[in-house]
Amino acid sequence: MCTIAQWPSVLTLAALALAGSTAAAQVPILREPGKCGGWRVAPLDAAAFGVPEPRKFSVQDSGFCSQYSHSGWEKPLRLYLGEGAFDYRPLIESAVSLWNTALRGFSRTDVIQLDTLIQPRTYTLSEQFWSNPEPEYKANLGDGQSVIYFKGGGDSNAVYSFAYLRTDRDQRMVESDIYINTTHEDLYGNNLALTELLFPVDAEHGVYTLVNSTFVTILHELGHAIGLAHVPVSGNIMSYHYMPGVGEAWEVPLALALSAAIHGQTDADPNTVSQLPFVSRHADITPYMVVTEESLLSQRDLFTLTTRLGEQDRIALMCVYDFDDWNDSP
Ligand SMILES: [Zn+2]
Repeated sequence: MCTIAQWPSVLTLAALALAGSTAAAQVPILREPGKCGGWRVAPLDAAAFGVPEPRKFSVQDSGFCSQYSHSGWEKPLRLYLGEGAFDYRPLIESAVSLWNTALRGFSRTDVIQLDTLIQPRTYTLSEQFWSNPEPEYKANLGDGQSVIYFKGGGDSNAVYSFAYLRTDRDQRMVESDIYINTTHEDLYGNNLALTELLFPVDAEHGVYTLVNSTFVTILHELGHAIGLAHVPVSGNIMSYHYMPGVGEAWEVPLALALSAAIHGQTDADPNTVSQLPFVSRHADITPYMVVTEESLLSQRDLFTLTTRLGEQDRIALMCVYDFDDWNDSP
């Protein structure tokens, strides 16, 4: 199990990324490690659970809202750290913050409230969790606590991370548990990245966004935990083939910086292109990869810190929650 160091600042990471260049071939992995295994919703007997009688809340729409969402929270979601989660606390906090910021027009209170002080009743998972998860994750439900777990040790090519939710009969969320599969990280270290070509520089080189794969997975599963389904439009956190689309904010400034650098190199030989900051050889990048180059790790963390939700992610939130930004005084 790896521990993530203090999350560095954007400026520090930008400086690191600019200082370095990419050269060494990276280690490809065969399969996207952060892909979602979906979500499962189990009905709950409201009376048995002691929740108050429901009011209006439900997603009964037959249009896209019923595809983008399934249920929602009326009270804040209190999320506890289960086995392995403390090692990923900075990533969890960043992901929680992103959703809470997006939900601010729904509630001035943070919708997801991370409880790092109290150990949940069901704290550990069995070593066979990923090889035979079904009975265990079902057994974990019904204790009234929403918990995020990080567990490895399974067949990483067989089981994806997933969320397991419990709702009352009126589709209000009462419990959301998240299970993150860390088998790839345990094997290769905390340096997995999702990559996307931001723009080509020439036939052999391009600028890529690299994003911490585990962070995107946490963000995605948290989306399920607050009631979102998959969004079939790429560029969203809740997309089937999710790509964070984080490059949009960086595309113009990076292109300008590279243009200036290239024009400043009047005597440049063709090999200098690969020495420019943020420029990688296409051959060195795979869609899901283990990053070994230090400058690429800085690049990955920089893009990760500036991840944003997609447009359809926000539309899906509006399907579930009654936002009140309009004329709302702070
Ligand atoms: Zn999913």
